[in-house]
Amino acid sequence: MNQDGDAQGGASKAIQTREPEKVVVEDPLPDYPRYRIEPGDRVSLAAIDPDETEHYQKKKHVGRELEKQRRRIQDLQERLYAENEQGMLIVLQAMDTGGKDGTIKHVFGGINPQGCRVSSFKVPSAEEANHDFLWRYHKSAPAKGRIGIFNRSHYEDVLVVRVKNLVPEDIWRERYELINDFEHGLTANSITVLKFFLHISKDEQKKRLQSRLDDPDKRWKFSSNDIKERAFWDAYQQAYEDALGNCSTEHAPWYIVPANKKWYRNLVVARTIADTLEAMDPRYPPAEEGLEKVEIPD
Ligand code: ADP
Repeated sequence: MNQDGDAQGGASKAIQTREPEKVVVEDPLPDYPRYRIEPGDRVSLAAIDPDETEHYQKKKHVGRELEKQRRRIQDLQERLYAENEQGMLIVLQAMDTGGKDGTIKHVFGGINPQGCRVSSFKVPSAEEANHDFLWRYHKSAPAKGRIGIFNRSHYEDVLVVRVKNLVPEDIWRERYELINDFEHGLTANSITVLKFFLHISKDEQKKRLQSRLDDPDKRWKFSSNDIKERAFWDAYQQAYEDALGNCSTEHAPWYIVPANKKWYRNLVVARTIADTLEAMDPRYPPAEEGLEKVEIPD
């Protein structure tokens, strides 16, 4: 590997993509860095306002900006795919109704499906449950050249598993370190790891559940299990605070995205992904030499 390759590879690259705003200078300055959790920070979700929208007041104020970020993602994804040297894993976590599906739809709507895969994780199957907890996630991790989106993720194994007492505490506690090692392994293999917690308030969840009940076209999304889960709100918030605090590392940061306003949530996620991709600096491979002389035979 040449010197450039060394400088771009593995751990040093991961540090560079952890603070993309230092590499990508844009006007106006992006605000997402303040949503990033620094390694070792204690997280208090109550201290973060889910209604935050910076200076934007209405959805129509971000329309053009969101479109610009989506185009950047599309362009950078093409380069990432063509280069085939590095990849990206995007982890989306949220309380029920937090907007994981909507974020995927609005941020990745126009992306080339060939280079992108969404993996959704539900209650583990019998086969999955018979393996170590990371097995099913590792199998779905993106290859070089690809973007992988986890709709729920390995974090469920320190969230629902903890709240519902599915395994003893000494087992789930050890998982923070195992998760950090797993993500470090991905970044060491040129897969950038970006994690978003879509932060909504308990009131907002109530509104969203109510609208699923009221709107016949949304009723299919309603599950009575959501009401049961809502009773565990505080326990989930606590589990999230510990997971985000213990697993926002130098190589794989967590962002807590204010998500009561869906349009602001989409903008923050899109902008963070676009800047991080740009900091990764994917390039089209050089063309073969002498192409200018090539003639296509009849
Ligand atoms: P979503 O809410 O993501 O749209 P579902 O309504 O099907 O999808 O919910 C998936 C369920 O799977 C959630 O209740 C979640 O807690 C559960 N789940 C995901 N991963 C695990 C896991 N590792 N162990 C136990 N339950 C899990």
